[in-house]
Amino acid sequence: MTDAAELRRRTHELLAAHPPAGTERLEFLRARFDAGLAWVHFPEGLGGLGVPRSLQAVVDAELAAAGAPDNDPRRIGIGLGMAAPTILQYGTEEQKRRFLRPLWTGEEVWCQLFSEPGAGSDLAALGTRAVREGEDWVVNGQKVWTSSAHLARWAILIARTDPDVPKHRGITYFLCDMTDPGVEVRPLRQITGEAEFNEVFLTDVRIPDSRRLGEVGDGWRVAQTTLNNERVAIGGMRLPREGGMIGPVSRTWRERPELRTHDLHQRLLRLWVEAEVARLTGERLRQQLVAGQPGPEGAGMKLAFARLNQEISGLEVELRGEEGLLYDDWTMRRPELVDFTGRDAGYRYLRSKGNSIEGGTSEVLLNIVAERVLGLPAEPRTDKDVAWKDLAR
Ligand SMILES: Cc1cc2nc3c(=O)[nH]c(=O)nc-3n(C[C@H](O)[C@H](O)[C@H](O)COP(=O)(O)OP(=O)(O)OC[C@H]3O[C@@H](n4cnc5c(N)ncnc54)[C@H](O)[C@@H]3O)c2cc1C
Repeated sequence: MTDAAELRRRTHELLAAHPPAGTERLEFLRARFDAGLAWVHFPEGLGGLGVPRSLQAVVDAELAAAGAPDNDPRRIGIGLGMAAPTILQYGTEEQKRRFLRPLWTGEEVWCQLFSEPGAGSDLAALGTRAVREGEDWVVNGQKVWTSSAHLARWAILIARTDPDVPKHRGITYFLCDMTDPGVEVRPLRQITGEAEFNEVFLTDVRIPDSRRLGEVGDGWRVAQTTLNNERVAIGGMRLPREGGMIGPVSRTWRERPELRTHDLHQRLLRLWVEAEVARLTGERLRQQLVAGQPGPEGAGMKLAFARLNQEISGLEVELRGEEGLLYDDWTMRRPELVDFTGRDAGYRYLRSKGNSIEGGTSEVLLNIVAERVLGLPAEPRTDKDVAWKDLAR
């Protein structure tokens, strides 16, 4: 049986065989994956040991204490948080063995080709077409708001394979090689001045059928695994107390008494308590995850995360007064990650605006909570039984 003591023993064995001080980072990460200590709840041979997810903390604590390198999870969030659980659930053995190791070590960055100019909240309306030709699928269309596409080697992609059936039924899920001919990535500049995301044009891109994930026409169901995991990945990351947006503003409050007012004090206290409640709720959600895939509850966490980030960063700008309006750099950078705590207050204020849009807008998440958590009547849907090709666009 693999319990906490056994995991500690295995971790020490890894550290003895690959002392972090004398081992190249990638070599260490690969060895960690092969020892089943990458994500312990994954199956043996795929970076895990098939033990409860909660035991990961035991391994992480031992490795951190030994100064071992990590896989920089913020840089590869889409791979870890969204592509990996979907490949694990729907992938063939060959796909799991090919993709999961370099995904986890960060050797291969992933992006998500879901949203389109005419399909965001109503994602199932998407129009990118994939047509079967021999052993390949030929893909044509345009995706948009694709975070990290400029860094990515691989993408999770959903495309329409059957326009003659209702929109949810004619979609298929693929793994797309971003270096293939016909994939063109163009930067999109955001309110922060940076271009974290992109437009992606797909012109006659040939994807072999062996890179289809799940059955033909079953892509909507496969995508639910990705989307449910996305909400948890965005809103439910593990944080220490004051680890999120509330950290910098609390520090400013403590260090700059001259900025304090009674009114701002009341607001800070309220937001501090709400941030702590959200953090602990995230902890509970992660414990639920130990028992399986995330459900619609992740929508609630992501809702709270977006609202709090916007309110807290707004309070911080107000607290700092004129200085809060300063912005560090308007050059169009192509950042590798979204860093909420390492940047200045102006960046946090501007970047958090996207939090209520990315990974499902707050309005749409409220619908999910209403229907699937509270059991309230569903929104009327008039297009459920209409073939996609006959929908008004
Ligand atoms: C920072 C950032 C990163 C992103 N990264 C990615 C990525 O990597 N890959 C990817 O595929 N996509 C990505 N997206 C896209 C994101 O998923 C979409 O923007 C989002 O789903 C909303 O779609 P939309 O922009 O088309 O807006 P729309 O769907 O057109 O929505 C417009 C407005 O209408 C409201 N609305 C729509 N439908 C309803 C409804 N039924 N009930 C009530 N209100 C409704 C919305 O809440 C919103 O206010 C990213 C977005 C952002 C901001």
